[in-house]
Amino acid sequence: MQMKPLIAGNWKMNGLSGNLREVELIAAAAGSIPHADILICPPATLVARAAQVTGGRIAIGGQDCHPEAWGAFTGDISAEMLRDSGAQAVIVGHSERRQCHGETSELVARKAQAAWRAGLLAIICVGESESERSAGHHLNVCELQIAQSVPVGARAGTTAVAYEPVWAIGTGRTASRDDIAAMHVHIRKCLLNLSESTKAVRILYGGSVKPANAAEILRTDEVGGALVGGASLMADEFCRIAEAAFERP
Ligand code: PEP
Repeated sequence: MQMKPLIAGNWKMNGLSGNLREVELIAAAAGSIPHADILICPPATLVARAAQVTGGRIAIGGQDCHPEAWGAFTGDISAEMLRDSGAQAVIVGHSERRQCHGETSELVARKAQAAWRAGLLAIICVGESESERSAGHHLNVCELQIAQSVPVGARAGTTAVAYEPVWAIGTGRTASRDDIAAMHVHIRKCLLNLSESTKAVRILYGGSVKPANAAEILRTDEVGGALVGGASLMADEFCRIAEAAFERP
């Protein structure tokens, strides 16, 4: 059965208590957007309260987790802790973590397994840099990231993959519809090479998704939703993106 598009918001390191109002507004609007699964990933400090104020009307997620369940890892948060705080999902391998924290694909795969262990949906991010695309290596780069970051056994109920070209994140530039289609079709092939169980895994697009471009992106081949950064911070903008998942051409 085809899954609903997943529209996920990544707040990154943004948001204080006052911003929970936006999560509440998104949860209130979610009833009139039944065609999409909605997820907001606030900073870890707000996960528990976001889960409380939304009361299951939308899903709440983390932005990263440690591969281990507990232990001497100062400053880290485990998938089990996120789950205990009310999270239902976690983003792993975001390019900002790969770049700023030197995360490798092997580590990302362990984090995805940790998410599964805790009963969380793992949203595994992949994407090429600008220089990799200019050199024509983007398909190979993402293929390798998929092969090394997506653990064996991935399936739709436990995993989503987010294609996020690094050069499109927070820049206002988006990949063209043809480029998104080509990459998403390629990612589907790579996933199927790993296992038939990935057949229905949703492949999200991320990178400067806005209300103005969401409908076109969400209608593209093999696009099963969006991972939205900047435009997820304001309820109105984010909800217009989620509503676009249902717009007809
Ligand atoms: C992201 O951080 O995952 C992202 C896609 O950001 P933005 O929408 O701001 O480009």
